[in-house]
Amino acid sequence: MDKFFDQLNLHNDILKAVETEGYTEPTDIQKQAIPLVIEGQDLLASAQTGTGKTAAFLLPILNKIVTGERTGGPRALVLAPTRELALQIETQAKKYSRYLRAFKTVCVLGGAPMSVQMRKLSKPFDLLIATPGRLIDFMDRKKVDITGIEVLVLDEADRMLDMGFIDPVKKIAAKTPSDRQTLLFSATMPKSVIKLAEHLLRDPTEVKIHHQHDKNENIQQNLHYADDLGHKNRLLDHILNEKSLSNAIVFTSTKRHASKLLRELQDKGYQTGAMHGDMSQRQRTRTITELKNGKINILVATDVAARGIDVKSITHVINFDMPQSVEDYVHRIGRTGRAGAKGTALSFVTRGESYFIKKIEKYTGQIIDPLVITGLEPKAPKKNQNSEPRNFRQRRPFGKKPGGPSNGQNKRFTKRRHGR
Ligand code: AMP
Repeated sequence: MDKFFDQLNLHNDILKAVETEGYTEPTDIQKQAIPLVIEGQDLLASAQTGTGKTAAFLLPILNKIVTGERTGGPRALVLAPTRELALQIETQAKKYSRYLRAFKTVCVLGGAPMSVQMRKLSKPFDLLIATPGRLIDFMDRKKVDITGIEVLVLDEADRMLDMGFIDPVKKIAAKTPSDRQTLLFSATMPKSVIKLAEHLLRDPTEVKIHHQHDKNENIQQNLHYADDLGHKNRLLDHILNEKSLSNAIVFTSTKRHASKLLRELQDKGYQTGAMHGDMSQRQRTRTITELKNGKINILVATDVAARGIDVKSITHVINFDMPQSVEDYVHRIGRTGRAGAKGTALSFVTRGESYFIKKIEKYTGQIIDPLVITGLEPKAPKKNQNSEPRNFRQRRPFGKKPGGPSNGQNKRFTKRRHGR
């Protein structure tokens, strides 16, 4: 094993688990963060999923718990915005603590029955992983005591704030001791995250791993111009039959569209599953298991699935519909090329969405070149396709929107953007 892990003075059983996982050398974030966390410093880290950040905080936290005095109550708390991410952190925690005697992790999250989680909370345990809403529920019912928390981790803080968890997070943090160690991880660092950090962290050390685009170098990004829905379907059919594709996630912008596409692909004989916000936790977990064990190889998903899914065999991410933000784009494509593997990210782009591609390119610093499949070429762009004629705009009656019933394409587009 690389000297780095050996030199950290980690408990032997944690080192053994790292070895079992096959980690021969640390990732950038681990190299920077682990020594600081061991020193007890607060951390403000920009790192996205896929960089090895979970081990960066879990390994030193497990070490702190097992080398200190066990209290029976949780001594570290990891907050995650989504159920998928929380479950994934739990899975990793179990892997890294597999050789630690009597070490217990409890994960509480929404969308799963409270009674089972309540039972787990009533027994002694060491590490608590939670989504904020469900934890508040348990706190309000006095079913969990977080007054002994020594380390608080906020994972994907930007997402947490996007999802409106600011008050729950503050409420939870306020119930933990003020002299705790706090580690904040975020893929992006908007002002709102900095403000939260100022509120919760004490004299934090900033850790920045390279900008996302450096981390996506192993992902080949391209686009296909698509004329309409039918054209997208034909492109998808062609790509899903490419030899290099073994597992793929196909992203749509709404759950309705995800369900429709799922049915269409199943009718065509593809081994397909879906992942969207309407599914229960049990259904989602089952789908991920099916993807991992090869029962299905195509997942049709909305953005709720973009974060947290960590399936190494995903070779392709296909943006059937483009996401709403550049951050979502980066998270979507990060589902492939996991742990250093090569990946392919393809986006189906209508001519009107070209501006968005420019925005992504500016953000990631990478060019997304168009590809053309013989026989599936897009129509040549019409001149001024996206601008209405001048005299029409001038003559438009007050209050009336441009584009009448004939503008169905646009209408459908707006509709599809609702309800993820
Ligand atoms: P994360 O960013 O924490 O979601 O981790 C992404 C993936 O990287 C997970 O599948 C981890 O098991 C894997 N991983 C974490 N640390 C290492 C390492 N040092 N070497 C190889 N793989 C790692």
